[in-house]
Amino acid sequence: MKIRWRFCKACVVNDMRAICVFCGSSAGVDPAYTRAAWQLGGLLAQQDITLVYGGAQVGLMGSVADAVLAAGGRVAGVIPRLLMDKELGHHGLTELHVVQTMAERKEVMMALSDAFIAMPGGIGTLDELFEVWTSTQLGLQAKPCGLLNVQGYFDHLVSFLDHAVAQGFLREQHRRQLKLHDDPAALLLQLGKP
Ligand code: AMP
Repeated sequence: MKIRWRFCKACVVNDMRAICVFCGSSAGVDPAYTRAAWQLGGLLAQQDITLVYGGAQVGLMGSVADAVLAAGGRVAGVIPRLLMDKELGHHGLTELHVVQTMAERKEVMMALSDAFIAMPGGIGTLDELFEVWTSTQLGLQAKPCGLLNVQGYFDHLVSFLDHAVAQGFLREQHRRQLKLHDDPAALLLQLGKP
């Protein structure tokens, strides 16, 4: 992927136009997760990066979208018709793509985005993260991917991935493709690194 760098007041950001955020349809037990969603959303808007996400109003998904919109940014939601009621499709978005299947949702989110961030979430979040990461491992796409490690939420997953490397099931070079930081701004910078 070709990265072009430009300078802004606060930091150096790359030329990414859209970042997909995978995160929980629940808010989690610690308010720090919601705070982090608002922090990330505000940062995306400030850096003129469109948020691409699953299109729901609920949980951290709703928070990150609300944060981008509150800061004057752009949000593209992608939601399967069958989840419009269950996860309450967000009607205040810049664009809402209503698709037919869960698989189509992932395809559209991947096509619309230049990079991917997983925040704390459940198995839906993990499914989306691993789909993107495995497609990088297979060379099907080369868009950067990272974990926003709020309150150490992903520590056990990271330990397991290191175990997978040690046991010869995951190559070190593929392990390094997954970036990790607890600070949204620092993670965005890492995602810009080739
Ligand atoms: P969760 O992390 O389980 O709260 O789910 C986060 C989001 O992932 C929700 O919008 C779920 O609908 C979505 N999700 C769950 N399973 C899948 C799947 N197999 N493909 C695409 N999205 C999914």
